[in-house]
Amino acid sequence: AQERYSSIRDCKAETKCGAVVRLDMNAGLMADLPSLRDSGAEGVGLFRTELQFLIRSKVPRRGDLAALYSRVMDAADGRRVAFRTLDIGSDKVLPYMKPTEEPNPALGWRAIRVGLDKKGVMRMQLQALIRASKGRPLTVMFPFIAQFSEFREARQILLDEMEKEDRLGHTLPEKLEIGAMLETPSLAFAPRQFFAMADFISIGGNDLKQFFFAADRENERVRRRYDTLNVSFLSFIEQIVNRCRDTGTPVSFCGEDAGRPVEALCFAAMGLRALSMRPASVGPVKHLLRQSDLHDVRRVIEMARAQGDQSVRPAVTEYLSNA
Ligand code: PEP
Ligand code: MG
Repeated sequence: AQERYSSIRDCKAETKCGAVVRLDMNAGLMADLPSLRDSGAEGVGLFRTELQFLIRSKVPRRGDLAALYSRVMDAADGRRVAFRTLDIGSDKVLPYMKPTEEPNPALGWRAIRVGLDKKGVMRMQLQALIRASKGRPLTVMFPFIAQFSEFREARQILLDEMEKEDRLGHTLPEKLEIGAMLETPSLAFAPRQFFAMADFISIGGNDLKQFFFAADRENERVRRRYDTLNVSFLSFIEQIVNRCRDTGTPVSFCGEDAGRPVEALCFAAMGLRALSMRPASVGPVKHLLRQSDLHDVRRVIEMARAQGDQSVRPAVTEYLSNA
């Protein structure tokens, strides 16, 4: 399937109306990195670092992590890799972590909540990332930020670690970007200062959608009731894009839906200009974007909204079949 799109692999995802959408890929293992070249992705928009923790029987050592992250950066060869700090808890349980009995794990002690409560592992991981950079640019994002203070605190920990590493004589990254993942609706309503402080926002659509509709992402029965192209969800995405625009904060979308061509097209029509997806989706998404005029798609979406449609999917699908 990848070969079908090889002719556009090195082309930009530029729409008929001249909008350029940055397409990155999601990764989590060293073995994913060769896809960076084959898929035509510009970089790694989401590197899920927990996979390295999940495949081991004990907490990895700082030196091992630093070596691995360094190899990831080598393989990316100067292209941007957004390393997401450890996102465990909920569906991702470490074999060596004391299991915590929680009635609602998805709403429980997970991701940044664990990181801020047990700072040792987070600090160790941040040190490994700084050392791995060896002076190269470094991009770090914190998962599951639900309120401004969590981001501020996590960011400060990273800045403290930078200072300590500097004192120890390690070469600091020449450029550091610190972002937040927007995965809970609350963060969309955070103070302006939050958006101003974040170097970038990455919408974690899988979690965001689950909390927006109160529908478990792991539960097929309820998950399928709510279309990503539901007008409420699209309006919410648009609102997030607008808040980021106000402060000039770059925003991307990195949930599974970014890799579905029709969804990706509608996100672009709502103003998103960066999407991160599984490598095999880059070709199909790029193909559809290159054939499309976002103003037209936008008009179709507005019409569906105005006439009270629940989802814009039927209208957009019909438009595409006639295009
Ligand atoms: C998300 O929630 O959309 C996301 C990208 O993170 P994960 O799927 O790893 O929770
Ligand atoms: Mg998530």
